[in-house]
Amino acid sequence: MKDSVLVFGGTFDPIHVAHLVVAEEAADQLGVGRVVFIPAASPPHKSRAVTESGHRAAMLEAAIETNDRFTWDACEIERGGVSFTVDTLRELGSRWGLDSRELFCLVGGDSLVAFRTWREPDTILTLATLAVAGRPGFDDRSIDRSLQGHVHYLETTPLAISSTEIRRRAAEGRSIRYLVTDPVRDYIERQGLYHG
Ligand code: ATP
Repeated sequence: MKDSVLVFGGTFDPIHVAHLVVAEEAADQLGVGRVVFIPAASPPHKSRAVTESGHRAAMLEAAIETNDRFTWDACEIERGGVSFTVDTLRELGSRWGLDSRELFCLVGGDSLVAFRTWREPDTILTLATLAVAGRPGFDDRSIDRSLQGHVHYLETTPLAISSTEIRRRAAEGRSIRYLVTDPVRDYIERQGLYHG
């Protein structure tokens, strides 16, 4: 069997340590050799303006550079427009020749609550296996019942960290140390991101 791959899509504005911990633990539990982070060009479920993709990708690259299993792919940025998971899984599954048993898609349980509003949800389930990480404040039981049997529930360390909170702290001049890796914090400071 081919080496399985875990795809982890997000806005990553900025990438924080909970993203990294969850990805690492998911990779161990699923036995995948590679985790591919996919920064969204324009995420469908976020109404606010997101930081320019070049900055988000640079922070992602800085965050994962010391982990041999972690890599990232610019497919959604290159495709442009609104980033739909179904398009990404179709593109990557066919590029890598992986079926739904070999291609995993990591999502936080909070994102999955609205799964039926995603574009082509049933097609997504034929392309990949959803791997779901719990998120503090989120109740697993609110996940759509139609997903039972298609979802692999992970045991990940609960970390109540969000990009929203990090942006807020940075804007208020408060410390974001340890919520993001040092290279990401340096990048944010150097580029003056999120400051007011
Ligand atoms: P924002 O606060 O800007 O909405 P976020 O912290 O939710 O951002 P995203 O980049 O939107 O980060 O998240 C990408 C994916 O990571 C989503 O599937 C989300 O559910 C998951 N995720 C983010 N933070 C956590 C966390 N602390 N624990 C588990 N999953 C998380």
